[in-house]
This record gives sequence, structure tokens and C-alpha cells, in this order.
Amino acid sequence: MPGGVTTDVKTYSMLINGEWIASNSGKTFPVYDPSTEEVIAQVPEANSDDVNRAVAAAKAAFEEGPWATTTAQERGRVLFRLAEKVRQNLAMLAELECRNSGKPIVEAEFDINDVATCFEYYGGLATKVVGYVNPVPDNAMSLSLKEPMGIAGQIIPWNYPLMMAAWKLAPALAAGCTCVLKPAEQTPLTALELARWFDEVGLPKGVVNVVTGFGESCGSPLVRHPDVNKIAFTGSAAVGKIIVKEAADTVKRVTLELGGKSPNIFFADADFEAAIDGALFGVFINQGEVCSAGSRILVQKSIYSKFVEAMAEKAKKIKIGPPMERDTKMGALVSKEQYDRVVSYLEIGKKEAKVAAGGGRADNCAKGYYVQPTIFYNVDNNARIAREEIFGPVAAVIPFDDEKDALKIANDTPYGLAAAVWTRDIFKAMRAVKALRAGIVWVNHMQPTYVEAPWGGYKQSGFGRELGPWGIEEYLETKQVYINLNEAPIGWY
Ligand code: NAP
Ligand code: MG
Repeated sequence: MPGGVTTDVKTYSMLINGEWIASNSGKTFPVYDPSTEEVIAQVPEANSDDVNRAVAAAKAAFEEGPWATTTAQERGRVLFRLAEKVRQNLAMLAELECRNSGKPIVEAEFDINDVATCFEYYGGLATKVVGYVNPVPDNAMSLSLKEPMGIAGQIIPWNYPLMMAAWKLAPALAAGCTCVLKPAEQTPLTALELARWFDEVGLPKGVVNVVTGFGESCGSPLVRHPDVNKIAFTGSAAVGKIIVKEAADTVKRVTLELGGKSPNIFFADADFEAAIDGALFGVFINQGEVCSAGSRILVQKSIYSKFVEAMAEKAKKIKIGPPMERDTKMGALVSKEQYDRVVSYLEIGKKEAKVAAGGGRADNCAKGYYVQPTIFYNVDNNARIAREEIFGPVAAVIPFDDEKDALKIANDTPYGLAAAVWTRDIFKAMRAVKALRAGIVWVNHMQPTYVEAPWGGYKQSGFGRELGPWGIEEYLETKQVYINLNEAPIGWY
């Protein structure tokens, strides 16, 4: 019963080896709409037995199934067909994503469009993977071949549920890998809907398995499984560190995308209106639940007061409300746990700095995990609200004196995912681009992300790159082949 409906609360199955099944234990867990706090679905609670079955299916599909002998052209076509399904069902997927994650419907529509684009991009890239002839100085031919890494375990977060699934699945499938995907416990629904089309678009059974469950009982067994060759993870730094340790025993390839505390730097010469807009967009989009959120806003002292005032004034007008309403600009946080976490940081922030806007629950809705867009100012870069990833609509505005001071503060963080700089001085902008220790640097904008361009972090924001040709490389091994062109014996002994 694919994505089977029982009552108002849908009971989902999960996909292992092409079959829609319950968990081995028979247990399920509830999935919520965070804007109403109501249960909207039940999904199987997978444990290590289920993970073992999923990995066995992925292994069989990789080694023996038809996937092992598909051509790059066929894999590309599968991805194009999947993209087409996503486009045809964009409204349904966006609505489900919106209900399950609390994000505004307009943003969910952007996300689902990006999901389709990601499958299209890697559908095209499947046939562009090429090897080399290495110029070895001998009567021999040396080749380097690109081969799929094997069985990929993919563990994703709840902030961009289906987009994170696409960023993982698309390059892996283009490369010829097989996958076991574990969505976040809060937001597994759109990945399960996507899986309904796998058979129809021509993905053989076992090529992609979707297991729904919790981090410790479902994610960790996947990380530790000896037959899994690669783990791709997006989520918190704390879990990323556990994953690296657990993956070490079986020497898995690992890529980590761990978020950050990204600086958004505003020099006094920046276009003021654009700057205010950019500061708000950088930190409040998706309720601030963004790994690259510009949560440290560095503003030059000569414009600091005016900047904080203008930002606060605009922030107070941001429309918070039911995510399904088209003019909603900020929806609900994803879960009670995340709401409590963000609110606890609001309390910490009130002790560490001053409040310019927000600071509490947005109570225009009776129910739901709504938090006001909050701006703290006069924040010291050593404050907890400037060092720890909050993952909510909370901005820390930090003053700086000059360029040197700004770049020093910007880089003074354990993270290095993203950074942005706003100025009309090209020399200053380029010096900042060079100095900033981050995987993505924007100039006079923040957050645009493209499937064609690399994404990933420096320092404790992780390693490896997703998207573009970099993304498929992370699912490929390189094999060297040496072909002797001499027929005579080596003649050494
Ligand atoms: P998380 O715990 O890092 O979860 C990310 C994914 O890892 C989820 O699928 C999670 O499963 C799984 N997981 C958890 N523990 C695991 C383990 N020991 N082994 C293998 N997999 C494991 O993140 P979260 O709990 O959703 O959110 C906590 C904080 O992480 C947030 O407040 C935020 O700061 C950060 N975060 C960052 C990003 C990002 O894009 N960088 C995204 C989301 C969250 P469960 O869903 O069952 O926990
Ligand atoms: Mg978690």
C-alpha cells in the first residue's frame, strides 16, 4: 500500500527492496503538523533489523541487480523521469512539505521546484562522468576509471526535507550507487511520497530504500553497517562528530554538512535599503532554520544604530502565521523540541545582549510553534548567542570598527559554512572574499544556492562538497588500470 491512507491520520509504510512494509517490530511513531501541533501521520519505526534488510537490498541491487549493468544514459533518464513526476506533483508535495515542516507554502514551492531541478541536473551529469588516460613514461597505457562508490547511507535533517533527499539521492544515482535514505524523524513524509514513483520511473527494486526512524536506533546502525561504503550526512555538528567516529571502524567515506554561525558583514558604504533587506532575508528565511543562516550580523559602527533600528522596524512587520497562507512570510518552527531550544536561547540572549525586536513566542496563533523574529544587538562575539548554532529566527548584531576588525570577528568561530559581505567597494569586497574562511561567500546578497555550484563547509561546518560536479565526485571511486604493451618478459630476475 504505497503511502497508504487509512484514516485522517495517514499510516505510511516504508520502502525496502521495492516493497512497502511496516517495521520489523511493528512499531510506528507520530509525525506532526507543527503549526497546529496535531498528528498528521504515523510512520514505521525502523530499528537495526530493518536497516540490515535495507542495506542487504541495496547491496544486492548494487552487485547483482539490473542497476549494476545500467548505462549512464539509462540512469540519466530515470532521473529525468523522477524530476518530471516531481514537477507534475509540485502542488501536492509543496503542501505536504509545508504542513509537515511549518515552512511557508511559497517557500515550499521554491524548494520542490529545486528538487526537480536537482534531479534534472544530475540526470544530465550522469553521462558526463569521464576517465583519463594518464601519460605514464613507459610502453604501457594507464587509465583512471570512475566507478560508483557502492552502497550509500544518507542521513538528512528536517529543515529542507525533500531538497536534502534530492541533494543526496540525485548524485548517488547518477554515479551508479545504491542508497539507504533515512529522513529526519520530524519530516519523513515527502521522501515517502517521492518513493512511490521509484518503480514507475524505472528504478529497480532495492536501488533506493527509505527507512524511517530515529537517529540512535536507525541512523547509527546504518553508519556502523560494514556493507555501507559511504555516509552522507547533513545535520548538527554534535551528531556529525559521532558519525565520523562510528564510521571510522569500517573506514567509510564520509561527507558532512553541519551548519554554522555565518557572518553577514555590512560596511557603511553598502546600499542601505538593500542591506537591511539582505540582513533580514539572510537570517529569517525558513524561520531561520537554515544551515547557512546569516545569524551573526556584523555592522560598521558608523551606521550601527541606524541599522539596528531599521532592521527592527522591518522585522516587526514580518507576517507570521499559518504556513498555508500565501502571504505568510514566517511559519512555525519544526517541532516542540526545536521551539523549546530556540526559546531557551532567547532567554540566554536577554542576559547577554539587548533586544531590538521580538524575544518571545509569536502569539497571534493559538497553537503552533511560532517564534517572533528576534534581533539582539550590542552582542559580543564571545556570547553564546554569537557562538552556538540556534537554528531559529534569532539574529545577533555585532558592531565593528573597520575592515580588519570585521574580518577578524567574522572568522572568529569554529564554523565555516558561509559568509556574506555588503559594500560598493570592489577592492574591499574582494579582500573579504579572500580572507573569509568559509565554503560559500556571497557579495551583496545572502542565501542564493544553485545546483550547479558547490556547497559545503570549512572548519567544523564539515567536509566534502555537494551539488555540481563536486557532488557526484563524492559518490565515485577512482580506479587505476595499467595495461602493459610489451609482450616480452619484465626481465628483472
Ligand atoms: P540532528 O540530530 O543532527 O539530526 C540530523 C539527522 O541525523 C536526523 O536524521 C537524525 O535522526 C540523525 N541522527 C541523529 N543522531 C544520530 C546518530 N547518533 N547516528 C546517526 N544519525 C543520527 O539534528 P536535529 O536533531 O534535527 O536538530 C538539532 C540541531 O541540529 C538543530 O537545532 C540545528 O542546530 C542543527 N541542524 C543543522 C542542520 C543543517 O543543515 N546543518 C539541519 C538540521 C539541524 P533524528 O531525526 O531521529 O534525530
Ligand atoms: Mg534529532
